[in-house]
Amino acid sequence: MVAMVDNVIVLRIPVVKKRVSKASSKSSIGRIYLSKRWVERDVAIMDWRDYEQLRNIFQNLFELKNIVEALFNCKAVGKGMFNIVSRTWNPVTGCSHLCRYCWARRLAETRLKRSPRYRDGFIPKIHEQEFKATFKPGEFVFVSDMGDLFCEQVEDEWILRVLDHIRKFPKTHFLLLTKNPRRYRDFLDRFPPNVILGATIETNRDDLYREHRISGAPLPSLRYKAMRDLKWSKKFVSVEPVLDFDLDVFAQWIEEIEPLIVYVGYDNYGNRLPEPPLRKTLALIERLSKLPCLVIRKTIRPAWFEGLSRYMGGELEERPGLA
Ligand code: SF4
Repeated sequence: MVAMVDNVIVLRIPVVKKRVSKASSKSSIGRIYLSKRWVERDVAIMDWRDYEQLRNIFQNLFELKNIVEALFNCKAVGKGMFNIVSRTWNPVTGCSHLCRYCWARRLAETRLKRSPRYRDGFIPKIHEQEFKATFKPGEFVFVSDMGDLFCEQVEDEWILRVLDHIRKFPKTHFLLLTKNPRRYRDFLDRFPPNVILGATIETNRDDLYREHRISGAPLPSLRYKAMRDLKWSKKFVSVEPVLDFDLDVFAQWIEEIEPLIVYVGYDNYGNRLPEPPLRKTLALIERLSKLPCLVIRKTIRPAWFEGLSRYMGGELEERPGLA
């Protein structure tokens, strides 16, 4: 039940009850304080964008609940690491973005180079046998971690086949992740509701991206705009591997995207990327934690040059705590 008292909207929630104080036996009421600019006499007035934002926050909270439950009901694949993904599925592999830190391409061109999937290199390919895969309710499946399903070289028809297969498992969560999120627009009316649309955005700094030749993918600013404008309630942002950024701008970008989940983590493969110092990354995580989304820390450590400067200076400090 919703009622309005002065400048406050009061939601009575009979199921979730909490004591206001030890002295009171009354159940508490959930309160949402609305900005004064929305309120006029006995009605709340807000513009359409504010209303959409408020609605998204609530939708996200419920999605979060489902996902966190799925998380606790499935086996994590990471060794000792908090990992929301319970399984990967690779109906399409390969990618043309040529990121300099790509572990999948490195694997495909070394250890897996004689396998049928990669004997022609890391070019995009579809794999028929993967369409026999079945998924359990509650699983959280990362689709095509060995490639980028939305890179320009992947045919529309392949993407549609993947989406058709996903549609057969409405109780499973499927995570799609790309560095070309502009292409999501072309499939908006074909995405089943159980997909989470993700983009990797490692930094806000296009200049850094160009200077260090990080990748041939669309620049971070283009990915941010595509994700911000994407009309989809379940969005995901991966800030991994994190590159140096401007704190205010980058935090603002992520806020505007309104993701459900954000991953933040440093490179795991010794690529000596232009990383931010640890204190800056922790400041970003703190800012993001105030948003209505799940912020998951992946590998969080000092930047490679911080370790080096400590070593050169003869300091042997403990790693800063990550609490
Ligand atoms: S977009 Fe992903 S799969 Fe493609 S090259 Fe970059 S890291 Fe590798």
